[in-house]
Amino acid sequence: MPAIDPALEARLAATAEARLASYLELLRIPSISALSEHAPDCRRAAAWIAAELSRIGFEHVEVQAGVERPVVYADWLHAPGAATILVYCHYDVQPVDPIDLWETAPFEPFVRDGRVVGRGSADDKGQIALHLAAADAFFATRGRLPLNLKIVFEGEEESSSVTLERWLPENRDRLAADAVVISDTGFFEGDLPALTMSLRGMVYTQIDVVGSPVDLHSGGYGGMVENPANALARIIASLKDADGVVQIPGFYDEVVELTPEQRAATAALPFDEAAYLARTGIAALAGEKGYAPMERKGARPTLDVNGIWGGFQGEGAKTIIPAHAHAKVSCRLVADQDPQVIFERLRDHVLAVAPPGVKVDVRPLGHGQPVMTSEDNPVAQAALRALRTAFGVEPLRIREGGSIPVAAMFQQVLGAPVVLLGFANPDSNAHAPNESMVLDNYERGIRTVCALWDDLGQSNTGGAGA
Ligand SMILES: [Zn+2]
Repeated sequence: MPAIDPALEARLAATAEARLASYLELLRIPSISALSEHAPDCRRAAAWIAAELSRIGFEHVEVQAGVERPVVYADWLHAPGAATILVYCHYDVQPVDPIDLWETAPFEPFVRDGRVVGRGSADDKGQIALHLAAADAFFATRGRLPLNLKIVFEGEEESSSVTLERWLPENRDRLAADAVVISDTGFFEGDLPALTMSLRGMVYTQIDVVGSPVDLHSGGYGGMVENPANALARIIASLKDADGVVQIPGFYDEVVELTPEQRAATAALPFDEAAYLARTGIAALAGEKGYAPMERKGARPTLDVNGIWGGFQGEGAKTIIPAHAHAKVSCRLVADQDPQVIFERLRDHVLAVAPPGVKVDVRPLGHGQPVMTSEDNPVAQAALRALRTAFGVEPLRIREGGSIPVAAMFQQVLGAPVVLLGFANPDSNAHAPNESMVLDNYERGIRTVCALWDDLGQSNTGGAGA
């Protein structure tokens, strides 16, 4: 195992069995946030975690009162001059359907072939367990942490974080931190250790095109009136050109371009195009011209039609001009695009190209801010060093194509930089049957966190709290 403080390593070696037992115990609580019948289990998981935090040595441990899926808070703030870090994970899990595709019972976890198998093992209870284990090693060996920690473990991440969204601004002052470390991501394909440097944001819209109150006879009216389905097709075709470049005026104005160093780092990622095509069953890759696949996935914005409907869809032929046609259109956004601004530009463009003779409406259905960690953020730099120490390899810096809404929430409400340090193996089957966490990722994850806290504790970069 890696070179962390030998006293911490000795404590971890001595407690390996108890630590695993405790991890499995947390997995046995079916804290599914989407299903109301599991609300008591969510509260049970929160209480279990709170008891652990108290036992380990944290202070001000509290389980939010009066809600079904409470936020668990705790802190330890006795390292004056040292950094203050807020750690976020979530203890709720996804439903287990389709249950018949599970080889074993989802909430009866066990270890097989070097993996912990069970719902929540990777997303995200395993990452809670590794943070608890790291803190325990410090308190047990030194009676203290090397820095100031604030813990926020949420119980509703898989169900839109509604409770946290209210709780965060109410607790803004006491949550002040130099950085928010979010452990809810994973490594690169092939289980290569990586730090996630950015997440994409999102704007989701619906376009409605209405012609007449009812479908019209295509013989009697065709050639005289605009067809809403044809009009919608022209509108959609105007959004993007054949090179995959979005044609909405101003769409790319705020996009932070990759530096030559970042382009080189992205190009060096071991992306296996042939394996990707084989796995997805797709004939060829596509996307914005001038950018490599990994750049297009994480560092460039997209525009996609998610659904399209209207007119006759039954068997055989029905000669009508549809009364209306609709599409769901969404964009994945990157720093520094603002979802509201992009929505307005998209709407203005659609209305500008809409032909006369139909009524066109563009409605917002949801949005999220993109998140980006600065390359020279000291906590991100320390996280890269800690990964190097614990895994013995040079960690990759990756950009996630998807979103973690809470990351944007922390960034906006606290104004603190977000560092996405997660340890899940890419084949963890998060959200799917037979979820599993590679035990070595979990064990080295504990060492990574130990190395990170010690590193930050020595750097005296504090200023945000304590
Ligand atoms: Zn998660």
